[in-house]
Amino acid sequence: MPRNPRYNTLFEPVQIGPKVAPNRFFQVPHASGMTNVSPRVRAAFRGMKAEGGWGVVCTGACSVDPSSDDSPFPNATLWDKADIKAHRLMTDAVHAHGALAGVELWHGGAAAMNRTTRFAPLSPSGVPWMATHVGFMTSARPKVMDAQDIRDLIRWHAEAAKRSEEAGFDILYVYSGMGYLPYQFLLSDYNHRTDAYGGSVQNRVRLTEELIDAVRDATGGRCAVALRISMQELRSRPSEVAESEAHEVMSYLKDAPDLFDVKMDYSAFDCAPSRYSAEGSHEQTIEFMKKVTTKPVVGVGRFTSPDTMVSMVKRGVLDLIGGARPSIADPFLPAKINEGREEDIRECIGCNICISSWHDGVWVRCTQNPTVGEEYRRGWHPEKVTKDSAGSVLVIGGGPAGLEAALTLARRGFEVSLAEARREFGGRLLWESSLPGLRQWFRVADYRLGQLAKLPNVTLYPESPLTAAEAMEFGADHIVVATGADWDRALCGPNEIPEGRLEGAAVYTPTDLAAGRIPQGPVLVHDFDNYYMGSAVSEWLSGKGLEVTHVTTAGNAAAWGFMTNEQPQVHKSFAAKGITLRTAERVTGFDGGVVRLAHMLSETPSEVAAASVVLVGTRVSRSSLAEELRALGAISVHLAGDAFAPGALAHVTYSAHKTAREISAKPLIKRDFAIPSLELQA
Ligand code: ADP
Ligand code: SF4
Repeated sequence: MPRNPRYNTLFEPVQIGPKVAPNRFFQVPHASGMTNVSPRVRAAFRGMKAEGGWGVVCTGACSVDPSSDDSPFPNATLWDKADIKAHRLMTDAVHAHGALAGVELWHGGAAAMNRTTRFAPLSPSGVPWMATHVGFMTSARPKVMDAQDIRDLIRWHAEAAKRSEEAGFDILYVYSGMGYLPYQFLLSDYNHRTDAYGGSVQNRVRLTEELIDAVRDATGGRCAVALRISMQELRSRPSEVAESEAHEVMSYLKDAPDLFDVKMDYSAFDCAPSRYSAEGSHEQTIEFMKKVTTKPVVGVGRFTSPDTMVSMVKRGVLDLIGGARPSIADPFLPAKINEGREEDIRECIGCNICISSWHDGVWVRCTQNPTVGEEYRRGWHPEKVTKDSAGSVLVIGGGPAGLEAALTLARRGFEVSLAEARREFGGRLLWESSLPGLRQWFRVADYRLGQLAKLPNVTLYPESPLTAAEAMEFGADHIVVATGADWDRALCGPNEIPEGRLEGAAVYTPTDLAAGRIPQGPVLVHDFDNYYMGSAVSEWLSGKGLEVTHVTTAGNAAAWGFMTNEQPQVHKSFAAKGITLRTAERVTGFDGGVVRLAHMLSETPSEVAAASVVLVGTRVSRSSLAEELRALGAISVHLAGDAFAPGALAHVTYSAHKTAREISAKPLIKRDFAIPSLELQA
């Protein structure tokens, strides 16, 4: 189909210093968990986005010197010549599709704890960065940089810039944002210096200016120089000579780089979960940029709607549409807009499982795109599946697992029948997406239902609860059981493993709530799952006017939500809604009027009055159908999604995709992703 002319502007080239971006789709630097140890994986991951039409594709943070080591979080390096070849794999993969390759040169300063290299973290004035924040926590305090340290920092950037050019990068970043070293110079909280790099805003900007100059000089103006800068804090601070410190900073920097990449200061706002932030939420912070500079500006906002993108350009907010999460969820987003296939876009749901991968120190994962991170190892392509099969498959269960399995199997050429007990498809998402803030999560079902509707070899059977005997009668060559899981009434023991049960008419689980059983207030929600469900249930019940006490075994509400940037917002939301939060306690009993609790560490008992209890703890797979089918003689029976092993939506789509790829096919798992780093030592 031809492109909708409304979107033509998105495909205009943009001059960035000495380089030209072929269109306005700009995959900004973002963490991938892929380091120089897995260069082939990284090249395949980034190259896929160029294949999908992104005009610029960047690395994630790339350290310029061993004094900036983010371990245990993964980061790339350009420390010496040995690192060049690993990056060359990525730039070649990106250039192969006509895109520009960018590198985010990075020094973390006090935010990089150097746990592996054991160098002292560097900082303008010795102020620690999030010293009590889990993951960043350390008792090491940063060294105050002297004049030589500053000269070294500038030299490291210049040398890394030369190596970047040799590696084939077109756009070289200076990174003054998100708490990293040049940003620490920008903010008076971290910069108490009395030399030429501290005090006035003009002095605090000096380091960033010198880094931009050093990178440009080192590459003789042949590469474009981008400045990535966080504006959230600076915009909130008054200036004596401008509208805000952000405006004053820009008055000094407006002509310095070839491109501005502007963002928020803290990950929880910069990469905000959809649960609490809408598409385009950065606009009020960054909207002034294009008024104060003639250089092109790129910014993000979880943009998936081409109309919103066009509006950002037409209204003069951005020149280039930055994408991190949307490019992970759909590497082919630009190509689909270009081909008039907007309805085929696999829209990011804003769950931030991708961010959790970086916090976990592993290759990026995505709820919507199960192929991500597996482009090299398993040879998975997000759009193409080899058409290698002609048999028939019956998929039982129309939740995210059944939908994903059906789609992938149909693309492989199978004749697919998808039976769902309920009238609507969507499984767990039908209720979960009705919880506060989770509406966009239904995109997981919407995308797959939209794609299935286009395939001639798929038949959907709603309102078809199948028994094993009925499924056998169907006579399909293969059966995929995607029947989901139930929340259960196990309690959490002192060792944080399930111990005992809580039964009774006034005890509920999310499975009960989804079935329409509403508890009486006051209600105590006991969360030892500690991801989104417990806090979403508390918010939901509070929204129904019930008095809610939220008890978690962890030290914070939604403790695992730290990984997805949800946790701070959950606490704010609880405070705003008047939900009482009790931490580090577990439920030990309930008599219908009083809930007994014990502290997780001290065992100190206490009691809370409540008319009902909602347990959000463990889940149990509904897998019995598979066993019954095997007992009846079915040979090719496969479990998928929650029926295979209960998990987050990302586990579900991955499990179903893998099952569907592997039915009557030999799985491919390459193991040589690490070998190039050894070759590079030569
Ligand atoms: P998953 O996350 O693994 O997709 P869900 O619980 O979201 O799991 O979806 C499972 C779906 O399977 C539900 O929509 C449920 O109604 C359906 N289902 C369960 N048992 C049967 C069955 N015997 N026949 C047809 N559909 C079933
Ligand atoms: Fe979007 Fe979630 Fe995928 Fe991240 S994991 S790209 S937030 S759908």
